[in-house]
Amino acid sequence: MLSYRHSFHAGNHADVLKHTVQSLIIESLKEKDKPFLYLDTHAGAGRYLLSGEHAERTGEYMEGIARIWQREDQPAELAPYMSVIKYFNRNENLRYYPGSPLIARQLLREDDKLHMTELHPSDFPLLRNEFQKDSRAKVLREDGYQQIKAQLPPLSRRGLILMDPSYELKTDYQDVVKGIQEGYKRFATGTYALWYPVVLRQQIKKMLRELEATGIRRILQIELGVRPDRDQRGMTASGMIVINPPWKLEQQMNTVLPWLLETLVPSGTGHQLVKWVVPE
Ligand code: SAM
Repeated sequence: MLSYRHSFHAGNHADVLKHTVQSLIIESLKEKDKPFLYLDTHAGAGRYLLSGEHAERTGEYMEGIARIWQREDQPAELAPYMSVIKYFNRNENLRYYPGSPLIARQLLREDDKLHMTELHPSDFPLLRNEFQKDSRAKVLREDGYQQIKAQLPPLSRRGLILMDPSYELKTDYQDVVKGIQEGYKRFATGTYALWYPVVLRQQIKKMLRELEATGIRRILQIELGVRPDRDQRGMTASGMIVINPPWKLEQQMNTVLPWLLETLVPSGTGHQLVKWVVPE
């Protein structure tokens, strides 16, 4: 049974990192005048009320999006992501946080396609409602890993596959690697962006070893930590693994991450990383 609800965590430091990377990849794909598919395997509810009971209970967004959205010294690379945050918060109050599907919805063009899957019985209808009038979108209550097999390669032969499981099942750490392998077999030129939490560092090291063993090349790792690793429960850092990243992404993240680190983790306990796990 799925118990994870993203509404408790929306807009936290991990979302800021994930959605910055997502927006930059989408903007790069838009540089060519050819449509692409955005496939979101673990889509969530789409929109989160930050003054709602869930977000207020954890207050995680206060140490995430709330710290950066009105700063005037934001690096230019944050502009696409911030344009979406501002679209959903037109006055001075930070009320809504757009999840990955709504970020994609705002940034994609008329001919691009969005395909999203979500299994949670409460979040799926919320997501479906968000996209009722969007003819570019398909929203299914299906297993995201299965959809990788079903939807790839896209007709357009261009695409971003965002994989963002909650890791509430231990099998997710292996399933994401299998999912990427299945996707890559069908669509080797696609861009795959996988989010991961650092709860136990060993789990991430193992996942990276398994990914390396697939033989896939061009694997970039991007990480933002807020506290040193530790062996107790709780996320201390999060990251994105990007396969076939747009050529500019490494440099863009090298510009953005120091600013994010300084702004999100003023205590100085954090770290940042941009590194090729497997190069060209
Ligand atoms: N990507 C969203 C965002 O950035 O706004 C957040 C997604 S949340 C971290 C993970 C979601 O995956 C949860 O809503 C959960 O219900 C859903 N989920 C878990 N297992 C799934 C599966 N096998 N297929 C599709 N969705 C799944």
